[in-house]
Amino acid sequence: MKHSRKRVLVTGGGGFLGSHLCERLLQEGNSVICVDNFYTGTRDNIFPLQDNPNFEVIRHDVTFPLYLEVDEIYNLACPASPIHYQRDPVATTKVSVHGAINMLGLAKRTRARILQASTSEVYGNPDIHPQPESYWGNVNPIGPRSCYDEGKRCAETLFFDYHRQHGLRIKVARIFNTYGPRMHPDDGRVVSNFIVQALRHEPITLFGDGQQTRSFCYVADMIDGLVRLMNSPDAVTGPINIGNPEEFTIRELAERVIAMTGSRSSITHHPLPTDDPRQRRPDITQARTVLNWSPTIPLQTGLERTIAYFRQLLGC
Ligand code: NAD
Ligand code: UDP
Ligand code: UDP
Repeated sequence: MKHSRKRVLVTGGGGFLGSHLCERLLQEGNSVICVDNFYTGTRDNIFPLQDNPNFEVIRHDVTFPLYLEVDEIYNLACPASPIHYQRDPVATTKVSVHGAINMLGLAKRTRARILQASTSEVYGNPDIHPQPESYWGNVNPIGPRSCYDEGKRCAETLFFDYHRQHGLRIKVARIFNTYGPRMHPDDGRVVSNFIVQALRHEPITLFGDGQQTRSFCYVADMIDGLVRLMNSPDAVTGPINIGNPEEFTIRELAERVIAMTGSRSSITHHPLPTDDPRQRRPDITQARTVLNWSPTIPLQTGLERTIAYFRQLLGC
């Protein structure tokens, strides 16, 4: 597909999703500015892109104003793994809210299109299953996950208020659990934890009874969904679910990873974290019909690729 060159800002571009997104946008011939304070992201993630003359990295914390000239903004800056976003919960709310305000201010001044990386966490511990975009969610406003869940909900509010009040062209993606190469080995999310533990033949840390469910989307599918959303007509604002509707229990995931890695690891039980959602699966009817998008990579294939990545990284 041919695209005219755009100046695209990716906040959080040094992170897991952000680095894949920068790579994809450069492949399409765009100029990409990656803004990151490397709180959870790393320079290694974007190292292969450094020699591209259309790629620029700015170390910056998006809770502070940023003045650039751009055509599009993908706002991904925010720690995404519970252990990281709960380490400094005030910073998490600040990046979600102040970061969104600054990027919306930037979009307002430059008339750029702006996409928000929102999350399935806006549905909280859902009592409607699977979750359609029309569901308002069941979120605890004062628990340990609230800094992230409520921060992201407030960011959605800001996006729609800037849209209504200032006519901004907005896109809100509700991202469901995504995995793949370039997740940090210490990321803390379940897919990387289980793979790293299995490859090292260490105990697999299963939280709770393992009957809670998640639906895992491979990173390439996710990036394709985000780019399609950004390129959709202005009338398409979202919020729109992007994720893989194949649903698994966490115990099934643990058993599958052990089998696929030929690991000697055993499963060990740990307490379920507070407010850990019981079930999660996207209703992707809107993504299918409005964006003509649906995931193409099943869990088995995605896990094979992710396991191969970690094998090489860890040398085991
Ligand atoms: P990640 O932690 O790998 O990436 C986040 C990036 O944001 C990191 O590079 C980090 O250094 C950067 N960052 C954090 N605070 C910042 C600040 N104040 N200023 C500038 N940069 C900052 O996580 P990810 O999985 O790549 O997630 C990217 C985005 O997608 C996040 O907004 C996350 O909430 C959202 N999301 C991800 C998932 C998923 O499963 N991966 C699911 C739902 C939503
Ligand atoms: N902002 C920014 N870059 C810009 C324009 C604005 O970081 O190019 C920030 C600015 O610091 C402001 C925020 O975005 O606090 C919101 O901007 P807006 O124009 O909506 O509000 P105002 O400037 O009126 O407070
Ligand atoms: N989980 C687990 N062991 C781990 C990490 C996570 O059993 O080492 C569980 C966690 O309790 C949750 C699910 O796996 O039920 C997904 O957790 P993750 O942190 O990846 O994402 P989120 O809870 O934000 O969906």
